[in-house]
Amino acid sequence: MIKVKSDEEIEILRKCSLLVGKTLAEVAKNLRPGVKTIELDALAETFIRDHGAKPGFKGYSGFPGSLCISVNDAVVHGIPGEYELREGDIVSIDCGTIIDGYYGDSAYTFGIGEIDPETKLLLQRTKESLYKGVEKAVAGNRTGDIGYAVQSYVEQFGYGVVRELVGHGIGTSMHEKPEIPNFGRRGSGAKLKAGMTICIEPMINLGTKDIIQLNDGWTIKTADGKPSAHYELEIAVGKNEADILTSYTEIEQVIKTHNIYG
Ligand code: MG
Ligand code: MG
Repeated sequence: MIKVKSDEEIEILRKCSLLVGKTLAEVAKNLRPGVKTIELDALAETFIRDHGAKPGFKGYSGFPGSLCISVNDAVVHGIPGEYELREGDIVSIDCGTIIDGYYGDSAYTFGIGEIDPETKLLLQRTKESLYKGVEKAVAGNRTGDIGYAVQSYVEQFGYGVVRELVGHGIGTSMHEKPEIPNFGRRGSGAKLKAGMTICIEPMINLGTKDIIQLNDGWTIKTADGKPSAHYELEIAVGKNEADILTSYTEIEQVIKTHNIYG
């Protein structure tokens, strides 16, 4: 069964999601060559706890970090560690929060300093595809309408749409029904109702759609070693338009004033 949230529940989810956006902006301020991904994780955890929330990912199915940090050909679920970011890297940072038992979950992909033009376009178009999906998150549409919007937009550029990992409903669990694939047929899948809360999160590869999982049990990489981008917004399905619960505003302000791309 797909839960429809009350207005009160949606406001709690908005608080969770806004804190994710602020946390990602705080992390973004610290993105530079030489920073270790474990250092970014530590500052995110402190920031989340200082705001009276809990990290949503830490301990989730045994995940060790507060962030998933996925560099270059890593698609998602990268474990924070000793790796030091380098000029030209791209890094997907995915963050979760818990407030009053409700979850926030959003992600953004950043470029460190100057990144190559092909990769810049991958980031830009993946973010655009996210908003194409968000446009379809209105009552009466189906999950396949969202997937189709994302897929048809990015495939025109020859990109690969990851199939094995998908967006999801969210509420008092991080992953609820329905699944929100980034591919699909129009008019197929679960029907959307106003008040459903979902995460739309295109994972788009420069090359093949195929992925591999590393034997750390978490990290997902592209099978061909080419870069992958990932953006995620938490939204409430609306009658006429989606209500975006996460805000990228703070992140995009940091990008303007720091030597990062996104
Ligand atoms: Mg996420
Ligand atoms: Mg998610």
